[in-house]
Amino acid sequence: MDKPEIMAKIDPVRLGPDSKFQFKCHKGVKCFNQCCRDINIILTPFDIIKLKKRLGLSSEEFLALYTEPQILEKTDLPVVMLKLLDEEGSESGRKACPFVREDGCLVYVDRPTTCRYYPLGVASLSHKEGSDEDEFYFFVHEPHCLGFEEDQNWTVAQWRRDQGVDVHDQINAEWTDLLVRKRSFPPNLQLTEQTKKMFFLVSYNIDKFREFVIESSFLKRYSVDNDTLDKIKADEIELLKFGLKWLKWLLFKEGDFALKASADSAGDDEKV
Ligand code: SF4
Ligand code: SF4
Repeated sequence: MDKPEIMAKIDPVRLGPDSKFQFKCHKGVKCFNQCCRDINIILTPFDIIKLKKRLGLSSEEFLALYTEPQILEKTDLPVVMLKLLDEEGSESGRKACPFVREDGCLVYVDRPTTCRYYPLGVASLSHKEGSDEDEFYFFVHEPHCLGFEEDQNWTVAQWRRDQGVDVHDQINAEWTDLLVRKRSFPPNLQLTEQTKKMFFLVSYNIDKFREFVIESSFLKRYSVDNDTLDKIKADEIELLKFGLKWLKWLLFKEGDFALKASADSAGDDEKV
């Protein structure tokens, strides 16, 4: 599946971790900030956790203010896009990222995964746990981007490390895996609306998911040991990992998630 990507002309060259390229982005380039306009960015779960914390918002507030929902092609799963704003004074109807400012990105340290990858994109061809074999990278060549004319050399692996994208990918890995696997479902195998709703809840509304786990009948239905419970109460990344494990069980009936003897999964229909 294509991981979140900026829509642009995709260079057909398939890149690996050792592929080399020349690129530098800095405030002195003529195109500064041009890549933050008229873009199409799908946000990942870790993006939302970082951005909402940065902005002092709940996940629900962040979703309402800064995102718009979309169904991800070929997966039928709900995702969210960063909501662009009409650019002030633009007669051509351009839209800009809500976080772009004259001197750069307002949320740079917590910028989304797609922004970190740029000018690269990444794609996974198939589901294969723990393997990079089917993952490859490509250039997102936008005509306005002059960074390729600068003189700094990178390998793809160096770029990913430098931009902190490796950490994002690691935390988002199980989520990406769900999307890749769902894409390979035969089209006649449909998820219920409730399962899609749960996918959205875990992926994007982590605060509400915490409430769902702790305050609904979830803990009466599923066996969750005390250690795990303490961890997920204290740490959102642990909560996300837990949620993704649960989704894997919900979608594919895989993993060591255990329903209590007296429970059945019908309770997943509980209102959230
Ligand atoms: S989040 Fe930052 S880097 Fe990404 S598009 Fe917006 S302004 Fe640009
Ligand atoms: S268009 Fe390219 S070089 Fe220009 S600011 Fe964006 S990433 Fe940097």
